[in-house]
Amino acid sequence: MAAILESWDLTVPGVPPRSRFYPLEPIGIGTPLVESLTSYLLRLAEAHGVPVGVLTDELQRGAAASLPSSGLKICTCPYRLLAYSVNGVEESAVKWVYVLGEATLREDLNHLTLLAFQDFLCSLSLFRRFRTWCPACYEGWRASGRSVYEPLLWSLRVASVCPLHRRSLISVCPHCERPMRPIMSSSRPGYCGRCGGWLGDMPDGPLPEEVSPASSNYWVSNAAGELLALAPRTRARPGALRQAFRENLEACVVRLFRGNGTQFAKFIGCTTTSVYNWRNGAVTPRIDQLLHLSDRLRIPTAAFLTAQSSAEAVDWKAVRPAVEGYALPILLHRPSEEIRQALRLVLGERPAPSLSEVATRLGYRGTEGLRRVSQSLCKRITDRYKKSFGPEPYYNGPRPRICRRRKIEAALKAALAQNEPESVPHIARRLGYTSSGPFFKPFPALCRAIYLKIARRKAARIRVMRRMVEKALRQNPPPTLRALAVQLGFKDKAVIGRYFAASRAQLLARRKALAKKQATQLRRELHRYTWVKPAPSLAEVCRELGLKPVTASRRFPRDCRLLVSRHQRRRRTMAGLRRQKSGLRPSIC
Ligand SMILES: [Zn+2]
Ligand SMILES: [Zn+2]
Repeated sequence: MAAILESWDLTVPGVPPRSRFYPLEPIGIGTPLVESLTSYLLRLAEAHGVPVGVLTDELQRGAAASLPSSGLKICTCPYRLLAYSVNGVEESAVKWVYVLGEATLREDLNHLTLLAFQDFLCSLSLFRRFRTWCPACYEGWRASGRSVYEPLLWSLRVASVCPLHRRSLISVCPHCERPMRPIMSSSRPGYCGRCGGWLGDMPDGPLPEEVSPASSNYWVSNAAGELLALAPRTRARPGALRQAFRENLEACVVRLFRGNGTQFAKFIGCTTTSVYNWRNGAVTPRIDQLLHLSDRLRIPTAAFLTAQSSAEAVDWKAVRPAVEGYALPILLHRPSEEIRQALRLVLGERPAPSLSEVATRLGYRGTEGLRRVSQSLCKRITDRYKKSFGPEPYYNGPRPRICRRRKIEAALKAALAQNEPESVPHIARRLGYTSSGPFFKPFPALCRAIYLKIARRKAARIRVMRRMVEKALRQNPPPTLRALAVQLGFKDKAVIGRYFAASRAQLLARRKALAKKQATQLRRELHRYTWVKPAPSLAEVCRELGLKPVTASRRFPRDCRLLVSRHQRRRRTMAGLRRQKSGLRPSIC
């Protein structure tokens, strides 16, 4: 019977877990043009045929339902304000990667962000505010039938050129001529979030010229791409990137400048303090600093961040000529009479320049050299400069007009158009005015707009700083105030107290508690040595514990006295034994 009729297998076949959303394949992981997480969101929404706003709302709801206890809110801002920071190194990136990973059951979405560099890059000046793209890339993808997406590279502030087409990236829609946010309610990959126009169209007017492959902009953009391609290969071990960078930088300084950090700093165009802090590992460079370092030395970024020493990865012969051709600027000796002549000419200038301005103009580093040439002329220049702050008295006749109204207006408008506007008093001073009064009366609206823009930028900077301070508060062990100030980009730690007094107090309390804990631990270890046999000397114990004997005696006097007395007793005993042996020897022989 069994041989004639086959039996049915009634066990239910195992069904692999199903994702809530379509698990789209991310594009270009491990390449310079890897997709960004914001682009993935846009493509996911398009694949489901819903506006991206509906998708993000759904994701937010799903996140809240799956983790009700922690009250997880993936983003404090509404979806239409989602910024490029979700591609970054902060908590919002972690949350979005988690939420999208849950929804699509994909585990590789962290490669669409900069999370691989979380403990190396700081979030300052990382991303642009507005969406930026290369029209030629969009057009090429559409023409060849490939998926249209946004590489992570385009969102980086440092990348200004498309590495494929060597043309500048653009951020103003060719149809509605307006910039747009990275994600807006009706954004789609490749289309304007405002008017819906195709972004692969070239803007009207002459095409931008191709950037030379030797230019800094091209190198920096390419190097940024290399950095992104490196992400999946970075080690998970925390601090590995920091250590590799520190070792490789040290190799560069030693090989190219015989260990002279000041010369190295001058060559790469940053401050000596920054190089000092990078070398001792107190801070890591910002992304723009890292890429400019790579550009100046013409060493690929990967050589700085991979574990093997850059000594093997770098062709030192190719780097050396650029460094060897470089000489520190040396002041030429000029006859004193020539300098005096120049100083006399300055006395007739209007508005009166300050002495330090004159010194810079003449190629001096400070004013000391000028004073050595002529004390009296320098004094007259300084007096004139001081007087220039007060208005000229009326009894000297009517004051001449310093600037035309049109020029003032043009200067104010130019300042307003800048990303980091110059302040109104500063513009006034530059144009030769002593105060900004003559600017406010005729152009109140322009002045107010400049003030507001500056205030907004300052507030945004403080917001970013606040996030960094809060992150520092969660670190274990907490950083020192000074290290935190350097991380925020300041030399003076007073800035933390000025803006974040409460956080400063918390940080200090945590540092104090940490110091207390360390002292207790140290005391316990020191005490352990007071009954170790044979009794060690104080110097030996201090070497073991990494302490200076003076510090140890000041902080733990009783244990140190005990250690010293035990060691002395042991030495006396040993000496006695030796004497005894030497006394016995003749009788044995
Ligand atoms: Zn392109
Ligand atoms: Zn548009």
